[in-house]
Order: sequence, then structure tokens, then C-alpha cells
Amino acid sequence: MSMSRELRARRQAAVPQGVSSATDIYAASATNAELWDVDGRRYIDFAGGIGVQNSGHRHPKVMAAIRQQLDRFTHTAFQVAPYEPYVALAEKLNRLAPCQGPNKTIFLTTGAEAIENAVKIARAATGRPAVIAFAGGFHGRTLMTLALTGKVDPFKKGFGPFPGEVYHVPYPTAFRGVDAKDSLRALESLFKTDVEPARVAAILIEPVQGEGGFYAAPFDFLRELRRICDEHGILLIADEIQCGFGRTGKMFAIEHSGVKADLVAMAKSLAAGIPLSAVVGRAALMDVVGPGGLGGTYGGNPLACAAGLAVLDVFEEEKLLERSVKIGERITRRMTKLAASNRFSCIGEVRGLGGMVGIELVDDRTTNKPAPALTKRWVEACVRNGLIVLTCGVYGNVVRILVPLTASDEVIDEGLAIMERSLEEAVAADAF
Ligand code: PMP
Repeated sequence: MSMSRELRARRQAAVPQGVSSATDIYAASATNAELWDVDGRRYIDFAGGIGVQNSGHRHPKVMAAIRQQLDRFTHTAFQVAPYEPYVALAEKLNRLAPCQGPNKTIFLTTGAEAIENAVKIARAATGRPAVIAFAGGFHGRTLMTLALTGKVDPFKKGFGPFPGEVYHVPYPTAFRGVDAKDSLRALESLFKTDVEPARVAAILIEPVQGEGGFYAAPFDFLRELRRICDEHGILLIADEIQCGFGRTGKMFAIEHSGVKADLVAMAKSLAAGIPLSAVVGRAALMDVVGPGGLGGTYGGNPLACAAGLAVLDVFEEEKLLERSVKIGERITRRMTKLAASNRFSCIGEVRGLGGMVGIELVDDRTTNKPAPALTKRWVEACVRNGLIVLTCGVYGNVVRILVPLTASDEVIDEGLAIMERSLEEAVAADAF
């Protein structure tokens, strides 16, 4: 029996099915944009551990920084004996964050925890309870973040009741027939029918939806949200957990619109796989909560902060923002060409911002009816052919690319060629 099959059997006996895996690949090692399984099989990685490896698996600079910290101390708890890497990373993020500074930063461990804390801070700062989020959005798996998440199956189903005072409006998804005006009209209507703006602490938005289907909010829409927030004293929270850290060609996706958020939640590629998340925001807001009101035992772990500092150096030294734009162009060019051929009329749209590219599959282009089964077959064929790539979308019919920004053109092209061949196989299987 192969090691993978043996591990699959052990895993089935030991781990609940609720934590499902997109592939049956049991990882043995990974470098940059390549991963090897326990049976020695090589894969190109277009998933990056769900957008966590923008600076590549085991970047030597990041590894060296973690090792150095490992030799000093691994944990003291910032709330017990604070340390320099936490402060240094906060200083850097305060300068980088798309907020009207001066800013302050708190570190936590997961993306969901960052969102939870952003909501706590927004409520404390405004004295208001309500939060507005968007349909299709994903903000985490804790109960408050599930309340904010806008997709029922599999995330919310069976887990209610959720915390109250959470409202949803449609996210602009032009391809699915919802434009920015529709979303704004829904928000206006929400203020009339469900909650008065004076009760709203924050509007929470992913500038580019990740799990929701790689839809980028139109920049005018983000500017209008900012105006509405200012008019009513509502805070704007940007969830940059998936679309941040260079994925879209800017450090933070909201920067494309010129809009400043009041609070920004970040995680994933912030520390290249060592669990770390952050809330960065205007100091005046961040300091409203009294001593002891924020924190967590592991928040801002020293290994993670050391990794985060090294990640920022890598971004600068290797010009990863420019690289993200180039990678996005490369992928979009190839996928758009594919979409233009008659064989692939199932490609409804190739869209994205910088290196955050999604390909939406449909039954046919006149109805744009989502094609989740074909999408599933496509990514399964990719895995068989040696490429890890993920789906997303409320209908599960979008393939998303989150390749490390440090990947070479050769590896990216190899991955794209696998995508092409695999789509051919998936479409052919559809015909029978
Ligand atoms: N927000 C967004 C936009 C995300 O993509 C995710 C994770 N996919 C989260 C929040 C939650 O992050 P975590 O899984 O680290 O809690």
C-alpha cells in the first residue's frame, strides 16, 4: 500500500470528516511553488495553502529568521513579557496599512480572530452594535465570523443561532447580474427596513472576495461605501486576509481604489505559514479598548513575528508587488486565450486583480448557469496531472489561482499547461 493510501485510512479513522481536504495529497516537503507528497510525487502548487504562501514555501530568508528566533525563545506571551519582533512588525504594518494614520497594530493568531477583534474594536469605538457584511463573503469559522460570512453550505449550516445585529447586502458581482448600484440600493433599503445607520458600528468588506468567487469590488463602489460610512459615522473594515499581502499587485487590495479603511484585518501570507493575524487601524480607534480588553495567549507569537518581518523584506527585495501584476497578466492572457477557443465555451469569465485570478465555469454562455460538477472534475484532473488548485464561489464553479508570487515563469507555465490539458479532459468526460 502506498504511504498516501495508508495515511488516508489512518486519517479517516482519527480525524472527523468536518475538516475536509481539497486533495488526498499527503505533504512531505515543499519549496517555493512546488510540493512533494509522502510517495515522492511532485506537484506544482497554485493554492499556496489557501493564499498563505505569497512569498513561497520555505523562503530561505524567512526560514533563517524563524531559526534565529527559535534559538532565542519561542513564547513568553506578549501580555507577560513583551518582545521586540512584535513591536517592530507593528511599526512596519502601521506604516504600510491603507488607513488614515497614525496607526496601531494588534497581533492575533487566525484570520477569524482578527475579524472578531476588528468587530470588538469597532463596537467599543462607536458604542454601536450592528455590523453590515456582504453576501458571498467569508470571514471565518468562529460563531461571530460565521454570522458575518455570507455562504450557508457548508460553513453556516447547522451551527446557529449566530450572534445578532449582523446584516447582509449583495456584493457587486457583475457576472452574476448584481452591479454596484444594486448593492448600494440594497444598503439604502437596509437602512430603511432593518437597521438605522446610527446603530451601525461597521461595514465589513473584502475588497476582492476570496471564497466568494474572486470578485473585485468596483473602485467607485468602495469610494461610495467610504462616503456612506463618513456620512453616518460608520467604520469601514477591510478584510484583506485573502486579497492582501501583495496578491492583487498592491500590498492591500483596497489601495487600488484610493480608499482608506478605518480598520484592516490581515492574516495568511503575513507570516508565510506561521499562524499570525493582525488588526491595524487608526490609533484613536485602536486605543479605545482599555488594558486587558484585547489579546490572546499566542497572539503575535515571536516566531510568527520574526517570519512576518522577513516576509516584508522579501517583498521589498524581490519586488513581489510588480511580480504579482506580471503573474496576473501571464495567467489572464493564457486563460483568456483558452476561453476564446470553441472547445472551452464553458469558461464564462476570467477575472481578477493582479495575481488574484479566478476562472468561472458555466454550462453555456447564454445562460451563464454555474457548472460546479465540471469545475470539480477540472480541479480533480489538475491534481491527477500534478497541479494543486482550488475552487471557490457561492456556487462552487470558480477555479482560483493563488500561486506564490516567487514562482518562476517556467513553473507557472507548467501549471497553466496542466490546467489546459486537465480542462480538456474534464470537458471530454462531460461529453460521455
Ligand atoms: N477572511 C477571509 C477573506 C478569508 O479568506 C479567511 C480564510 N479563508 C478568513 C477570513 C478566516 O481566516 P482563518 O481561516 O485564518 O480563520
